[in-house]
Amino acid sequence: MQIDDLYLYPEGYPPTPYGQHGVDMEKDDKWGYGTLLPGLQLLPIGWLGSQVPSKGPVPEPVIDFLFNAYKEGVLSDGTRGWHSCEICAAAGDLPIAEYTLPKVKWRDQSKQIMGHGHYLIRHQKKVYMCPALIIHYILDHDYQPPEEFIQAIANGAILLQEKDLVFHEHDFSR
Ligand SMILES: [Zn+2]
Repeated sequence: MQIDDLYLYPEGYPPTPYGQHGVDMEKDDKWGYGTLLPGLQLLPIGWLGSQVPSKGPVPEPVIDFLFNAYKEGVLSDGTRGWHSCEICAAAGDLPIAEYTLPKVKWRDQSKQIMGHGHYLIRHQKKVYMCPALIIHYILDHDYQPPEEFIQAIANGAILLQEKDLVFHEHDFSR
């Protein structure tokens, strides 16, 4: 799936790239979806598809943030949004397991990344939406996200979790 970095979504666009109402959520035994608090702007980062739009170094604290985010902050897209790394797939010489579940190494740790779900990272009024694979793109394909995203993380952006979203119960009666 490819979306241009910093593509301008209309205000109120649901915080998921898959055209559903919002992030799939369960709260107090009810099923529904989560949306952003009003007044926040949603911006996609790192939905590369099969091309790397910009390459270059990424500051270590930004990599630390995204590497650690994988454990805490991947939001579900339900049954949608499974994707493998199209860049690895296009190279054509890897076994399928290595690009559907790429293993990333950073410092002395390694993690297997499932290409499913996404992150929401907030800084002030902006919320950056990134695929779970972004850390693989940075570490293994030299992807360099836009400077404003790097600056946002360097300046204290926070990883949003389900509790930070506005919950809407599904109305199954309609
Ligand atoms: Zn890859």
